[in-house]
Amino acid sequence: MRIRKSSAGNEIYLVESSTRGKYWKVNIEKKTCNCPHYVFRLRQKGQLCKHILAVSDMLMNDSRDEFEKAVDYVKASGETDSVELIEMFSEGIIDELIERGELIENRGKIRAT
Ligand SMILES: [Zn+2]
Repeated sequence: MRIRKSSAGNEIYLVESSTRGKYWKVNIEKKTCNCPHYVFRLRQKGQLCKHILAVSDMLMNDSRDEFEKAVDYVKASGETDSVELIEMFSEGIIDELIERGELIENRGKIRAT
């Protein structure tokens, strides 16, 4: 399933429908889609359509890659300045890796475990 980012906003994704060239609009923050299956059936039942699931899967994979990249970077470069790391990745990613115990912070320096 092809997914494109929409220029309409950060939370909006366009997911190609089974009809080629036609895209459904998914708002990943609100977890809504404008496909008929969602609008007329799933929404009432509080369920998500395959388009919403596809976007959220993709985002999860993307962020998993970012986590791996951050750990690999620290492993390759040894002790790394935490400010530098946060600029390269993001504070959320680095914080979570520290929380998970994959990275250790000590006096502004970060290293892998
Ligand atoms: Zn949908």
